[in-house]
Amino acid sequence: MPKPLTDQEKRKQISVRGLAGVENVSELKTNFNRHLHFTLVKDRNVATKRDYYFALAHTVRDHLVGRWIRTQQHYYETDPKRVYYLSLEFYMGRTLQNTMVNLALENACDEAIYQLGLDMEELQEMEEDAGLGNGGLGRLAACFLDSMASLGLAAYGYGIRYEFGIFNQKISEGWQIEEADDWLRYGNPWEKARPEYMRPVHFYGRTEHTPDGVKWVDTQVVLALPYDTPVPGYRNNIVNTMRLWSAKAPCEFHLKDFNVGGYIQAVLDKNLAENISRVLYPNDNFFEGKELRLKQEYFVVAATLQDIIRRYKASKFGSTEVVRVDLTGLPDKVAIQLNDTHPAMAIPELMRILLDDEKLPWDDAWDICVRTCAYTNHTVLPEALERWPIELFQNLLPRHLEIIYEINRRHMERIAALFPGNEDRLRRMSLIEEGDQKKINMAHLCIVGSHAVNGVARIHSDIIKASVFKDFYEVDPDKFQNKTNGITPRRWLVMCNPGLAEVIAERIGEDFIRDLDQLKKLRKFVDDEAFLRDVAKIKQENKMKFAVHLEEHYKVKINPNSMFDIQVKRIHEYKRQILNCLHIITLYNRIKKEPNKVWTPRTVMIGGKAAPGYHTAKMIIRLITAIGDIINHDPVIGDRLKVIFLENYRVTLAEKAIPAADLSEQISTAGTEASGTGNMKFMLNGALTIGTMDGANVEMAEEAGEDNLFIFGMRVEDVEAMDKKGYNANEYYQRLPELKQAIDQISNGHFSPKEPELFKDLVSMLMNYDRFKVFADFEDYIKCQDKVSALYKNTKEWTRKVVMNIAGCGKFSSDRTISQYAREIWGVEPTLEGIAAPDE
Ligand SMILES: *Cc1c(COP(=O)(O)O)cnc(C)c1O
Repeated sequence: MPKPLTDQEKRKQISVRGLAGVENVSELKTNFNRHLHFTLVKDRNVATKRDYYFALAHTVRDHLVGRWIRTQQHYYETDPKRVYYLSLEFYMGRTLQNTMVNLALENACDEAIYQLGLDMEELQEMEEDAGLGNGGLGRLAACFLDSMASLGLAAYGYGIRYEFGIFNQKISEGWQIEEADDWLRYGNPWEKARPEYMRPVHFYGRTEHTPDGVKWVDTQVVLALPYDTPVPGYRNNIVNTMRLWSAKAPCEFHLKDFNVGGYIQAVLDKNLAENISRVLYPNDNFFEGKELRLKQEYFVVAATLQDIIRRYKASKFGSTEVVRVDLTGLPDKVAIQLNDTHPAMAIPELMRILLDDEKLPWDDAWDICVRTCAYTNHTVLPEALERWPIELFQNLLPRHLEIIYEINRRHMERIAALFPGNEDRLRRMSLIEEGDQKKINMAHLCIVGSHAVNGVARIHSDIIKASVFKDFYEVDPDKFQNKTNGITPRRWLVMCNPGLAEVIAERIGEDFIRDLDQLKKLRKFVDDEAFLRDVAKIKQENKMKFAVHLEEHYKVKINPNSMFDIQVKRIHEYKRQILNCLHIITLYNRIKKEPNKVWTPRTVMIGGKAAPGYHTAKMIIRLITAIGDIINHDPVIGDRLKVIFLENYRVTLAEKAIPAADLSEQISTAGTEASGTGNMKFMLNGALTIGTMDGANVEMAEEAGEDNLFIFGMRVEDVEAMDKKGYNANEYYQRLPELKQAIDQISNGHFSPKEPELFKDLVSMLMNYDRFKVFADFEDYIKCQDKVSALYKNTKEWTRKVVMNIAGCGKFSSDRTISQYAREIWGVEPTLEGIAAPDE
């Protein structure tokens, strides 16, 4: 059998088709050697693989510099409206290959590295992921940066430069172990520190109400040190900036205090202030009301707003270089997008600046604030909504608390005038929740302080209007919008699946990379045997490559002809990895019962991190590894069923796993997954989806045709009806023998023979207080999986559905999402034009 082409060889074919040039190979080699010598201070005798990676990274980075400076100069001179995307998370993953793709350098670099006798893939493996995010929300921010640059928007990502990103997950005896992610240990070649733009951020203190305004005094100061990372657009010579703040103690920190232990202690105490940017909180869809987290949220907001206002005031005024003196025109020149409520403090902080520093009257300040800010809601799960105790605020941000009270007073006055005597509505809509402990509802603050509020998929936007934010929708219906999420086709197709990108480009050209709607042209190839064969062949190659990776890393033998059935996402009860487990156990029991029947072989892979404090999620991981330990070693089962827990799921592992998937598991309880973006990555990479009518799955079914996905289970309406009637797990357990058998096996220690009681609590949860109604969807899920297995035997019919899915993917480009934000929220116009290339 001929060896499958390496990714490098495939890209060479793409370059024949004009995806990249090979002109500058010798120049790249020269620069690589120059960096190895002058930057790394090594020669080829002593250089490590990591040195070679850094030499290549610097060589590629050099190609960004001129474009970056030119783009920023261009913005300064033309003064377009700026877009600020504020997020506590940017889940960027690796940067090297993405930069090469967007700058059309990949092919030339491959050739140069090859000529130097080195291995490109090996060098790329040396790069650490920038894991500054938990899951979908942080990855969305990263996809948006790529799209904003590719669409020529004058946009900036603002966040925190965590010294430690999302933890590294190890599996030890079946349990999750967390290790600190020391991603900066060897240095980060993609960032540039800008100490000259350092800014003070104040905490604690008290307010003084004086005749000439309010003063926030006796504060403690922490400095915010910016680090800039270039964000190149796709082949348009635009390079935008992601600016991440790092906390620095001022030089005089604690030194003037007489009651601390003197000079040495004062220097040691600098750590306390610098802890603000130490580590990413590892919760996905969960609110943890810790003071340090509130400090992080205010820190990024306070530093960013100073930057925004400085840039606004210093920009050119039309064609003349006049410095703007007031902020009345801010909403015409600045849009601030809040990625969830995490940066919600931007609203009271902007008000504080407008009122106390700029001395504007309240009404003028409020008008500027609302017209500038917009808020994206990411979840309806109550445990995820930020509700900060008043005492924390009182202590840490006393002036902001006063401002929030005043915002609320006026808001309550308006609602009371609209609904006289409706005390209950006032209570429901207040920014302040009464109770044992008074709390600030940050979502309410964001809705009131923004001119636009959006959900992230159509069904989610409908749900927030009909339930969680119904009261707000009734008073301001025009505020509420939908912006269905998307993913960047550069990283999630061209970069991670060059083989598929190539067979598509052979049929419809390569314009789909900037205009993903063009994938619909593939519909006319749905009966083209040669195209179906090409698509199936690429999938097989991706599976082989991933199987090799798995065998290297986990010492498991994989059947590459089995169906690769993959569920990768954070571990969460609402995402229902347990439902997947129950299907696996059902397959196992069926094979054991009829071992001589012909079964569709499957390799089921599940991966994802559990928040360290989320006990049930950790038990779910333990359940998956336990099931795998029994099934994978059962000789009767053989290679017809394997269960693999994919360790340390992160952006880089997603890029390897998703192109190898046949089946994508998107099985949340209807109404709980706001959008999902993993679902879109699988669809674009030629996997079929088994899923519920939840999040963006609904729109995926609409775009690809419902027959081309495996949809099962309760709809939102069914779930609501069941909530009214009451969900009774035992009813399903008694009625469905395969469910009963699986649950009994989990609870009697079949999968944990050394510890028969291990999953007692998990089973008790499923039987007695399962908020996500796993059993209610079991029967339909199993039936649907049976259809999946049957279809998988027919490669041609399967592949036809794959093609219909790829052809229906256009809507799920983050370019489409960003174009809609630009036009419908930010008031700016996207363009594919770009700017001229710099002389290099
Ligand atoms: C896309 C992505 C996610 C989001 O996946 P969902 O299935 O939408 O939850 C999470 N983690 C990583 C690493 C991703 O790349």
